[in-house]
Amino acid sequence: VALWVYVGLNLGLWWWLRGHRQHLTWVSWCALVGTVMQNTATWFFSSGDELRVLWFFTGLCAAYTVVGPSAGAVMTVLILATLWVGNGFNPTPYTPMAMFTLTSLVAFLSVFFHLYVGRSHSYYARMQASNRALQQLASHDPLTGAMNAREFEAQAERQLSLARRRGGDSALLFIDLDHFKRINDTHGHAAGDVVLRSVAKCLQTQLRDCDMLGRVGGEEFAVFLPDTPLHGAVHVAEELCQAVAALRIDVGPDTQLAVTASLGVTAQRDAASSLAEMLHQADQAMYQAKARGRNQVVAYQTA
Ligand code: GH3
Ligand code: MG
Ligand code: MG
Repeated sequence: VALWVYVGLNLGLWWWLRGHRQHLTWVSWCALVGTVMQNTATWFFSSGDELRVLWFFTGLCAAYTVVGPSAGAVMTVLILATLWVGNGFNPTPYTPMAMFTLTSLVAFLSVFFHLYVGRSHSYYARMQASNRALQQLASHDPLTGAMNAREFEAQAERQLSLARRRGGDSALLFIDLDHFKRINDTHGHAAGDVVLRSVAKCLQTQLRDCDMLGRVGGEEFAVFLPDTPLHGAVHVAEELCQAVAALRIDVGPDTQLAVTASLGVTAQRDAASSLAEMLHQADQAMYQAKARGRNQVVAYQTA
């Protein structure tokens, strides 16, 4: 009967776990308690089978590998207690030599699995950390911390498909720093890098959490503004333009630089056109801002 109850319990747990990973901790602990009860019952009530003690070892391995080191340690104590206390009630008791062998085996397996599981947990944690670092490296620009062009486009596409489903406005800004080559030529490439970093930080602090900033070229940034109509986007762009112009960037002991940007803005309803089209429109508007004298915002006008 105990065996069938045990099989039923495990089948029930398997059923509960199917497709519900979040139940794993509960399921493992229930399976473990069931295993302890089953092993103890076998030990006390199945004395004709002198090899039944082997079930303790499979339970110990399962406790360490499926639940973890603390469950394994609890299992070790329970097994040793059952062995030593239970042997007194055993109709055919194990000899002291057999008890020594069993105890040594339990101790060996516990130490072995403790080290093994500890190591695999730390490998797993390191792998997760390096996956996160790789993810960050693959999706962000290392100089400014802004999204790189690929990630920016992927995220903006996602926002556009939401806008296509739900309806609503989307806006895009294209930002190009003015006469940036001069900064590099006059103060060196390293100073140029400092300026790029400061500008990106400035843009990021001005924007809302849901806005997305990408570095889409050397000194070119794009901003995707979800749920924003054209007049709102122009307002944001004006603020960004002023904030960049107000920056005073330390690039050396006595050198402070100022920089300006030209911004192109476009917006649309219900994601009527593609991201590529929006980028093209904002880029064209940005070129008009350059032509009109730089350090300003121009909104794309449909002909
Ligand atoms: P305009 O106002 O017409 O945009 O002039 P500009 O000088 O900004 O335009 P241009 O496109 O000719 O120059 C862009 C410069 O940006 C050239 C390139 O050396 C510099 N640049 C691109 N990427 C980086 C970078 O990562 N670091 C630094 N320091 N400079 C960069
Ligand atoms: Mg440029
Ligand atoms: Mg430029």
